[in-house]
Amino acid sequence: MSSVLGFSGLTSALCLGRSGFQVTVIADRFAPRVTSVVAGALWEWPPAACGMHHVPAALERSKAWCEASYQTFSDLSRDPKTGVFLRPVTFYFKRPVLDDPRQRDKMNELRTRVVQFRHDQSIIGENGISTRLGFRDAYTHLAPMIDTDVYMGWLFEGLSESAAALLRRGFTEHSTNMSHLWRQSSTPR
Ligand SMILES: Cc1cc2nc3c(=O)[nH]c(=O)nc-3n(C[C@H](O)[C@H](O)[C@H](O)COP(=O)(O)OP(=O)(O)OC[C@H]3O[C@@H](n4cnc5c(N)ncnc54)[C@H](O)[C@@H]3O)c2cc1C
Repeated sequence: MSSVLGFSGLTSALCLGRSGFQVTVIADRFAPRVTSVVAGALWEWPPAACGMHHVPAALERSKAWCEASYQTFSDLSRDPKTGVFLRPVTFYFKRPVLDDPRQRDKMNELRTRVVQFRHDQSIIGENGISTRLGFRDAYTHLAPMIDTDVYMGWLFEGLSESAAALLRRGFTEHSTNMSHLWRQSSTPR
């Protein structure tokens, strides 16, 4: 199997390698020249700041990924070598959440899927947020976050343990070269 080299590709490669496939990782850019290492890397229930959330199918897929990844990253956070940790995250709103259908639906979906959820406007004062900012509502919960440099190193280490081959290729003709490499590298061990 072949895969490219941001978090998506490396994670796929690690899972495939652990399932017994010989994985070839292909990339024209390596860390630190990939988007993945500059991500804030905060887990957020969709629609979030990142993602194709105007496409209904993509939004539903993101929700399924988020539900699964909350548990996976929570498990990884027990091992400091992964660079994954859990922190309280707080969202502030200028309108009461219950008066905004989009925010209300999002909050109601996420509240049963996260740990230490609390919806309470007094969080604003507790966190010392200036009243001049005009926030009137807030909720908080524990969310996974990732130190991207540490996580990238952990993924690489896992890949080398599963004997995946790492290749560097500088191509731009994506479809032509990918189909050639797929033929070359899609043999299970
Ligand atoms: C400032 C910022 C903040 C962000 N914050 C968050 C956040 O808080 N939470 C969150 O979930 N997401 C966040 N994101 C989004 C997140 O960073 C990306 O969704 C994620 O890194 C994408 O990973 P990726 O592996 O798909 O892509 P990339 O990291 O871009 O890796 C793509 C890899 O594929 C290779 N590649 C691509 N095309 C080819 C080709 N034709 N030939 C050879 N190689 C190729 C590249 O060389 C590279 O190695 C943020 C993004 C930015 C920029």
